[in-house]
Amino acid sequence: MSANNFRAIVIGGGPVGLTAAHALQRAGIDFLLLERRPHVVIDAGSNLVLNPLGIRALAQLDLAEPLNAVSSPLGEINRLDHNGRDIGDVHLFIQLAAILGIAPRVISRHDLTRVLYDTLPAEAQQKLLGNKKLSEITPTANGVVVTCADGSSYEGSIVIGADGAHSLVRDLMRKLSLEKASSEQVNAEHPFLTTYRALWVRFPRPTAIPVGTVSETHGTKLATQSFYGEETGVIGAYERMEAPTTDRIRYSQEDQEALIKRWGHLPVSSGSVNLTLGDVYDSRLESGLVSLEEGVVENWSWNGRVTLAGDAAHKFTPSTGAGCNNGMVDIVALVTELQTICSKTSDSALSSSAVDSAFRAYQSTRYNAVVSECAGASMATAAATWQTVIHKFVDRRIICRHAITKFLISRGAKSAARSTALDSAASEPRGSAGQPFGAPTPGTLLRAH
Ligand SMILES: Cc1cc2nc3c(=O)[nH]c(=O)nc-3n(C[C@H](O)[C@H](O)[C@H](O)COP(=O)(O)OP(=O)(O)OC[C@H]3O[C@@H](n4cnc5c(N)ncnc54)[C@H](O)[C@@H]3O)c2cc1C
Repeated sequence: MSANNFRAIVIGGGPVGLTAAHALQRAGIDFLLLERRPHVVIDAGSNLVLNPLGIRALAQLDLAEPLNAVSSPLGEINRLDHNGRDIGDVHLFIQLAAILGIAPRVISRHDLTRVLYDTLPAEAQQKLLGNKKLSEITPTANGVVVTCADGSSYEGSIVIGADGAHSLVRDLMRKLSLEKASSEQVNAEHPFLTTYRALWVRFPRPTAIPVGTVSETHGTKLATQSFYGEETGVIGAYERMEAPTTDRIRYSQEDQEALIKRWGHLPVSSGSVNLTLGDVYDSRLESGLVSLEEGVVENWSWNGRVTLAGDAAHKFTPSTGAGCNNGMVDIVALVTELQTICSKTSDSALSSSAVDSAFRAYQSTRYNAVVSECAGASMATAAATWQTVIHKFVDRRIICRHAITKFLISRGAKSAARSTALDSAASEPRGSAGQPFGAPTPGTLLRAH
């Protein structure tokens, strides 16, 4: 453990857990990361869009450059209806790049996790343990003991739950709140509601479709979004379910094929290439059918011992490509708070009330921004699937007006800049035209150890 004996145990080595490893290492806070899979680098899953918010958080950890090298900037969004008719381009990504100075980029999950792993110093890589599935968290006088399914156990000061939407850390935190009769509020057992399911397909990019192309197909009950990187494209098909549910649903291969039977005929590309959803599915390298849970957990921590970040704390529909990006911002906010309290004490252990205050400050920095991003993603999915006539009108007639997206970006940029000026407002950089949200000088917000 470090000088003041403080050690964070991160549960989950997904993109948010790996970002935590970087941030903790940089802040000089001892940590251990436990991942249930054999290794944190995975060659599976859909591609992701890194948005300016996430790229800015990653830039604070000196990760923007290595990630730029394996990701592609995205251009205008070409939109069709279910009959292949043009419903107007959206210049969101182009405007984001122009106004904020950071272009959204598409990256494969493999490249994202590989870069996050490879760029860690060797001593930090050794703190990442695979085949470690969390099974229990036991609070002690000075911290926590974490036990894994293989019987191994680890001592630490706190647990950071970065274990995804179906977080066991969140469940155990709820159990502790119920058992310990503390004044903590108890979270809902099922904090997320699912209204949509998503089929995602990763497939080889057809050579006639340029890198950086974004295509969407909108219409009643189902919308698609596709992004084309250097080698592969990824498409997400979001289908409104018959009724919303808080239950966890697991889908089979047959369910994927049934969805393709319902929607395989839909056009999913514009221009000279006429691809259907069925064509893309037939050429798949990998695919999956998942529930799109939505919601924000009310309490992100328990008693100065356990806290949540990323999908464990909030889950959005992917329509605005914001879930993972917000998880990375969570980490920068959380570690900044931890770094502040660690630097203020030379005690052998920090009091749980000091850590509790840091956890609460972290949640209050992030909560409103996350609630608003969750609502924005929900609105985008409802509009793209024409949930009501108003959504359909907004989708067809309003969203493609470039002045409106420009206004929304400028408004969002101001609140994003406020919510992520973490360490010192004075060091918050501004773009060349004085806009409130520019790329930070690496390492200015989170202090390097
Ligand atoms: C189709 C689709 C497209 C998306 N596109 C985007 C996008 O473009 N941009 C974006 O920002 N977001 C996107 N998202 C959301 C994004 O995938 C998530 O927000 C992101 O993966 C969350 O990262 P995380 O690290 O919090 O959780 P996860 O990625 O779920 O990682 C959790 C990790 O914890 C591990 N774990 C779980 N339980 C345990 C346990 N008991 N013990 C030990 N380890 C455990 C898991 O194995 C996993 O490695 C998309 C989601 C979907 C479904």
